[in-house]
Amino acid sequence: MIVNHPTIHEAHRLLLKRELSSTELTRAILERINQVEPKVHALVTITDELALKQAREADRLLASGETSPLTGIPVAVKDNICTRGTRTTCSSRMLENFVPPYDATVAEKLNDAGAVIIGKANMDEFAMGSSTEHSAFFPTRNPWDLSRVPGGSSGGPATAVASGEALYALGSDTGGSIRQPAGFCSVVGLKPTYGRVSRYGLVAFASSLDQIGPLTQDVTDCALVLNAIAGYDSRDSTSVPYPVPDYTQSLKADLSGLRVGVPGDYFVKGMQTEVEAAIQAAINKLEELGAEVDREVSLPHTPYALAAYYIIAPSEASANLARYDGVKYGFSSQDAGSMFEAMEKTRQFGFGDEVKRRIMLGTYALSAGYYDAYYLKAQKVRTLIRQEFDRAFERFDALITPTSPTVPFKIGEKIDDPLQMYLSDVCTLPVNIAGLPAISIPAGFAGGLPIGMQIISKPFAEETILKIAYAYEQATEWHKRRAEI
Ligand code: GLN
Repeated sequence: MIVNHPTIHEAHRLLLKRELSSTELTRAILERINQVEPKVHALVTITDELALKQAREADRLLASGETSPLTGIPVAVKDNICTRGTRTTCSSRMLENFVPPYDATVAEKLNDAGAVIIGKANMDEFAMGSSTEHSAFFPTRNPWDLSRVPGGSSGGPATAVASGEALYALGSDTGGSIRQPAGFCSVVGLKPTYGRVSRYGLVAFASSLDQIGPLTQDVTDCALVLNAIAGYDSRDSTSVPYPVPDYTQSLKADLSGLRVGVPGDYFVKGMQTEVEAAIQAAINKLEELGAEVDREVSLPHTPYALAAYYIIAPSEASANLARYDGVKYGFSSQDAGSMFEAMEKTRQFGFGDEVKRRIMLGTYALSAGYYDAYYLKAQKVRTLIRQEFDRAFERFDALITPTSPTVPFKIGEKIDDPLQMYLSDVCTLPVNIAGLPAISIPAGFAGGLPIGMQIISKPFAEETILKIAYAYEQATEWHKRRAEI
């Protein structure tokens, strides 16, 4: 390759100086995909023809001087984000042959920016999972150790970025699906505030929690991608009409005066000692950089977030997934004598086990007689958690936690134990419950396996998060390490 694993901002500079064309860069990326894809399996669909066409178009834009920082830069898009004319499967048999007739707003924004889409990235089916093993097609492998999971559900996007198959990716995060795989693959992953980025054209999992965000190689790239995808969209009634700042303006390496809290409740029982040590060292680093750190913060409702999440998310999923009835679109079983039998068989063969488990959990929690005990109670817990965060953010600009209690686990290790799998999101899902923004950035390694640090802030304070992340990144070298595959 012309340059090895360039970041967006490095490639952009080369493109502007005409030292590299988008077509050359795209060809190099497609070559890299040929080389490593048989090992990592990060992509469900490789859109090579489309990519080369978009690259030629980008080269024309670059020649005319009409550019944005994303013009001509290859990106992988999670396969639950609709792309017009390119199949969008959610890694499910149900949507295996679904070709959306429209673009998600974020896809439209990428196209407007002159991006080059190189493929659709693998995920846990309908984004339900933490390892990408629940893909109906194949598991994705962690580029740092091919016998381990890349995290999930955005394991494909994170792996694509970490293994040099794309310069960045878009993922979605309902309970940690951007941040946990970012942590597991040593890339930067941001879940924006609920409402910051349009969800129009994102296949719905749990609509009150879902949010699209960037996975990138460094914090500068994260700011550039957020600039491009954030903003109000009249087609998503939950998007918020706040102006979008230039997020690159917050990339300053000085943290003096920033108040940072460390909630002990996130250092859970069973956390690996290496993970805890790496995060403590990272917190010391933030202090050196000028942050005022309080290590005694208490968020006592944290332990209830997991239970509340696994009521709320499946409840919303059971309602959202009712649309896959074999009539409107997607897989349809033809082998049936009646309409009801057709629906039954469509859902029986179209959905995998984890999706069925969520539908059953959600349908149960919402059913008459149980609604008050489960769904309503979970919503009350949700309010308490949000209020607890609100109070914390009166005293702190940001909270620091590990992204995940462990380093990447082995493929197969947790697949038969849903509760263990759910526990890998214990640090990330309170953030979705409260609608907050949070990032995961590379913060160390244990035995060659990546460790991520999570930075959480109050609604629409992405700038604070990026500032802290950038300062830490500039003072450390973790983000420069590349997986050797
Ligand atoms: N792992 C969590 C779940 O399975 C979160 C998934 C996500 O964020 N999409 O629900």
